[in-house]
Amino acid sequence: MNLIEARDLTKVYHRGSEEVHALKGVTLSVKTGEFLSIVGPSGSGKTGLLNILGLLDNPSGGTVKVHGSDVTHLKEKQRVVVRRDTIGFVFQQFFLIPTMTARENLELPLLFSRKKPDPKKTESILEMLGLAHRGDHLPYQLSGGEMQRVAIGRALMNDPQIILADEPTGNLDSASSEKIYDLFRDLRDKGLTLIVVTHNSELAKRADRVITIRDGILTDEEHQVCCPCA
Ligand code: ADP
Ligand code: MG
Repeated sequence: MNLIEARDLTKVYHRGSEEVHALKGVTLSVKTGEFLSIVGPSGSGKTGLLNILGLLDNPSGGTVKVHGSDVTHLKEKQRVVVRRDTIGFVFQQFFLIPTMTARENLELPLLFSRKKPDPKKTESILEMLGLAHRGDHLPYQLSGGEMQRVAIGRALMNDPQIILADEPTGNLDSASSEKIYDLFRDLRDKGLTLIVVTHNSELAKRADRVITIRDGILTDEEHQVCCPCA
């Protein structure tokens, strides 16, 4: 079953009097439980596409369906709910709160969804991230890879169905990057759907499927390894 279906997405940005056609008709389906990589050069439209798939931004044209229902024209209030309950976001810059411990950063999304922290759940996520001994550490006491794992844990806190990650290893060395992809594969094995944007074509191949975007258009599909739910 398709978790996300995007059809004919276009995105036009206005920069002064100039129009930037960042997406020029992107059609894409992502199956439940699939781990998809999106690669492409800088400026090709990866972030714009991810933001539209994650309901952080509206397309200029085209539609996005989540679980078969069109979310393109939902009111912002409803989009917030779909986003909060369905999608976890991971960014290149981690965006941890510097004055909060790893554990507190993990639990941050619960504030917004007005759920009470469940210490058992927090500890089990820390454990899964390989950070059981780091719960009381502040971000500056963590390595880049550890910070990104906290950010991934934070994205998991509301039990999303899909993780969207924009160049999550862009600031990490190759060993830490491998570990992040190990974690993504574990999450896929647990049934999560992942869409991960990367510059690194070797890392991209660790996904089930790689698609390439160039100049706002999907150019090809390569490396179709497996998809457990196909
Ligand atoms: P990528 O993530 O692949 O580097 P982006 O999706 O960020 O690419 O951007 C695609 C194109 O859209 C680029 O040419 C970029 O300069 C342009 N762009 C992105 N956001 C804006 C914006 N807010 N205003 C104007 N142009 C933008
Ligand atoms: Mg980008």
